[in-house]
This record gives sequence, C-alpha cells and structure tokens, in this order.
Amino acid sequence: MSIPPVAPGYRGRFAPSPTGPLHAGSLVAALASWLDARAHGGLWLVRIEDVDTPRCVPGADQTILRQLAACGLHPDEPPVWQSQRTPLYQQALEHLVARGLAYPCACSRKDIEAALQQAGMTKPRHGELIYPGTCRTGLQGKPGRAWRLRTDISISNQPAGHEEPAQTATKIIASQVVHWTDRRLGPQQQDVAQEVGDFVLQRADGLFAYQLAVVVDDAAQGITHVVRGEDLTDNTARQILLQRALGLPTPQYLHTPLVCGANGEKLSKQNGAQALDVSDPLAALNAAAAVLGLPAQSGTLEHALARWTGLWRAQFTGSECSTLPTMQAQALHRRP
Ligand code: GLU
Repeated sequence: MSIPPVAPGYRGRFAPSPTGPLHAGSLVAALASWLDARAHGGLWLVRIEDVDTPRCVPGADQTILRQLAACGLHPDEPPVWQSQRTPLYQQALEHLVARGLAYPCACSRKDIEAALQQAGMTKPRHGELIYPGTCRTGLQGKPGRAWRLRTDISISNQPAGHEEPAQTATKIIASQVVHWTDRRLGPQQQDVAQEVGDFVLQRADGLFAYQLAVVVDDAAQGITHVVRGEDLTDNTARQILLQRALGLPTPQYLHTPLVCGANGEKLSKQNGAQALDVSDPLAALNAAAAVLGLPAQSGTLEHALARWTGLWRAQFTGSECSTLPTMQAQALHRRP
C-alpha cells in the first residue's frame, strides 16, 4: 500500500475512542504517550478513534480534547477523526484483497460456534471465537458479510521494527508466530494463525475494524512510537502482521500499566470509571504519574510535566527496551 511520506523523526500519538470522557485510566496512556514524545524531542498527535460509530457518545470527542488541554497536553498537529478516513481503510482492504490476503466471509456468530463445536474447538479466547477458516475457500453461494485477513499465508519473516516494506510470500502455513519487543514488558510473541485466527478487517455492518484502521492511521500519520494501555498488548501481533501484509513499517511499542476498577478489571465506564475531574489538573496528573512510577509534583503544571519528562527520558530513551532493567519495569507495573 502506498502512503505519502511524512517528515522523519519521532511521532507519537494518543488515540482515544470517544465512548465517553477521559477517566483516570485513559489519562495514564495520554500522559505516558505525551512524556515519551517530549522525552524524545518528538511530536505528539491526537487521533479520535470513532471508527466504531455505534459505540461513540456524541460530544465525547470534544470533552476529551478539553480534558487533555486542561492537563497541559496539547497536540502538535490538528487532531484527526477516523470517521473521516474511510477511503484510506477501503484502499488498504482492496490492496489486501488484490494480494489474496483478505477474503469475504458469510459466517454469522452462530455459524462460527457450530463449526467450532464440530471441530471440537469451542474455547473462546478473551470472549472472541477463533475463526475456523470456513470461508477461506469460498462463500458456497452465501452472501459475504465481513472481510477477514488470511493468517495462514506466510507474510514475512522480517523481525518487527524492520523499516523496509515486507515482500508478500504465498506459502500456506499452519502457524504464524509474530515476535516483537515491548519497550516496557520485554520480548513478546503470538501465533496469530493458531491463537487468533483469521480476524475481521471490515465488519458485517460495513464498518472497518479497529485493527485495520489503527494500522493504516499509524502509517499514514508516520507514527514511529506507539504508547498505549497494557490491555491492548494482545492486539499488537495482529497489527504487526497487517503492517507486513500492507508493506508498512512497524512502530516501536510500549504498553503502560492499567488502572483497575472495583472488580479488579481495567477501569472502564462499565465498572464505574468516573469522568476525569480536571478542575484540579495537577491532582489528576499526579494520580496518573503514580501509576507510571513517577513521583508526585507540586507547583505549576509546566514544572510537573517538565520534571516527569526528564525522569521519563532517563528511563525510556536511548536504550530501547531490551536493556530496560527488570526492577524498573516491575516498578512501573504497579496495579493499584
Ligand atoms: N482507541 C483505543 C482505545 O481507546 C486505543 C487504540 C490504540 O492506542 O491503539 O482503547
């Protein structure tokens, strides 16, 4: 896929879904991505991920932008909205279809459950069914509902982070292990073909899936470093596979610790996350900084942000991940 080049240098981003206002958990990812950009002397962008329109709350995008601004986190370029970028996602899907890497799927959830049961593979993974590949060889006269990526085709053996566009091979394989290194969590790997299966690129309702949109946008915006919540770690191998299939570069990844709700799960609207109170932005930032293992600050916002940038620089720049001492990684991994 050809994407116009952007100026070289560090480009990071914060990519909230406007399903509600920012809460204490989402501010952690916002602050960490901002600090990483500043510590590298780079640019920090904001992308509103409103691709899943039914889940979006009207006005939440503007609330998020206001909350970020109140905390002194100002994007270096005008924010972009995924809902306005559909032609880019369509182009990417067509590229994959033309290379035989994406195919239409006629299966409903019930069809998938039945096929999995027949094959004796009923265990869902994080609530998601591993697609058994029913429509890989054709729709058998049924109408196509969604589009999926073929994960059983060897896409590239290049390591993640390789800046050259990958060549697509056409060898059919049973497993597709993606190796990558998280700057905080260390080496990671996932067999996407076995553990996830052919995943959805465009949904039955016509909306493009998060996986495709995020990969296309990160490349189109020239993102070199992704800093986001640890709950998204599991998506990274899928995104790297898609980058390779589209011939796009792979950014560096750092996944931040999560703030947990009363039920021990990631703080979210569903488990009682309150909208972030930015009437005292330093208090909100101090709470986010504590999750990142950074000491509380007093004084002005500017002073606090500058102090944390210096500490972040000492910890996370220069030597990426593999040399990050385990003790530091553990300290950052605090789950309140
Ligand atoms: N939009 C996603 C979220 O709000 C973040 C996606 C990403 O950072 O890759 O959870």
